[in-house]
This record gives sequence, structure tokens and C-alpha cells, in this order.
Amino acid sequence: MGEEIIENIKQIQARITAACVQSGREIADVQLLLATKTVNAERIKIAIENGYPLIAENKVQEIKQKWDTLEHVPHQSHFIGHLQTNKIKDILRYNVSCIQSVDRLDLAQKLDQRLTYEGKTMDILIQVNTSAEESKFGVPPEEALALIKEVMLLPTLNIKGLMTIGLFSTDTLKVRACFKRLKELQQSIEALQLPRVQMKELSMGMSNDLEIAIAEGATIIRVGTAIFGQRQYPDSYYWNENTYSTR
Ligand SMILES: *Cc1c(COP(=O)(O)O)cnc(C)c1O
Repeated sequence: MGEEIIENIKQIQARITAACVQSGREIADVQLLLATKTVNAERIKIAIENGYPLIAENKVQEIKQKWDTLEHVPHQSHFIGHLQTNKIKDILRYNVSCIQSVDRLDLAQKLDQRLTYEGKTMDILIQVNTSAEESKFGVPPEEALALIKEVMLLPTLNIKGLMTIGLFSTDTLKVRACFKRLKELQQSIEALQLPRVQMKELSMGMSNDLEIAIAEGATIIRVGTAIFGQRQYPDSYYWNENTYSTR
């Protein structure tokens, strides 16, 4: 079981290397994040212990379930799912170092309130909906700057960059357009030199489109299926509140 995971990671690593060579980028500038939704904690532990310490969940519930096993395994944890405001208190218990999916002001404000109360700070990315698909979360690109100008006023939140989920399509031109859009947004916001706003990170690219994302400037790619295998649940369970009850 463990060998398969490690073999898969090696293959992803090879794909990252090839994509970096092709696009003239430094391999060290692209971080591999393991998207671990539905993967049991023992399997995640194997990946972490073999040198891949950056993981991310989509649901606070799953972080909680895996915490007993992973608490004492040194690793770094991001959050990449739709975060409901009633889960904020909960998520702050689990050492999450970056919430990549901040996509609305009320979430940012409530995060800031709770972080202030606890005397903590949090790195965040602004999630942008570059594909205009209804099933996904994220602020529309044309509203991203306005959101950032509000969020930068919240002292406990450190904006580090942008995140997006590319269009699910075999039309690579359309997929590439999503990533290009995020890159353009990053550059235009960076040029404004807004106080407390960093635009270093571009989290984009998954199992099927990581090469395109790297070519367009991804600094974090998020890979699940290609490492851990197919999931039991359809992704709409994680990405579309209307399809399934999220409790
Ligand atoms: C599941 C997930 C991924 C990984 O997708 P794969 O196709 O399994 O590699 C990346 N980002 C987000 C936000 C996810 O929910």
C-alpha cells in the first residue's frame, strides 16, 4: 500500500520536473501539496514521512477525524475547502497554517474576529473563480481586488496570494485560460503594492492539469487522485453545497 503511494509521488515529482524544465522554471519554486480528502490518516502519514509534509483537507470534520493519527507527525496543513463560518472556531484548533479558500468578506471578518480573540494570525489565499462554473466557490475575478482591499484591513489575516480551481475540461485552451486569468490578476494586484498584501503564491493545478498550471506560473499545485487513487465521493460533494447536505 505504502509503496504505491510513494511510487505515485515519484511520478508526480517527475511530471513537475518535466513541466519546470519545459517552462524554464525552478523546481524549488513549485510546492507539491497533497489533497487528502477521503484518504485515511495512515496513508497520509506514509506520504508525510517520506518527505511530503504539506497536506490539505476540504472539510474541518476530516481534519478532526485524522487528528489523533497526525497530531504528532510533523507536517504543514492548509485548508482548501469551502469554509462555513460556523466551523471557524473548530478549524483554529488544528494548527492549519494557511486557509487557501477565503472568498468572501463575511468569512474573512469572522475569521479575523476569532483570531483576534485567540491572539493568533493566519496566512490566507484569496480563492478566485476563474472558470465561472456554478458548482465552484471563489470570488469572481472582477471582484477580487475589491475583496482584497477590504481583507487587507483585517490585522490578523496575512494575504499571501491567490488560489483557483481550473475548469474541468479536456479543452486545454480553456483550462489554460483559467490559469492565465489568475496570473494576470496576481500581476495587476502586485503592481498596486497594497499594504500588507503579498501576491507570491499562486495555488493552481491538480492531477490532470498540473503541467498547464506550472507553465502559467503555479507556485503550489494540489494533487490528490494521482497520488492516492480515485475517491469514493464525487467532487461535487466537496464543491457544491446544493448537491449534497454538508450538515
Ligand atoms: C480534491 C482537490 C484537489 C485535488 O484534485 P485531484 O484531481 O484529485 O488531484 C485540488 N484542489 C482542491 C480544492 C480539491 O478539492
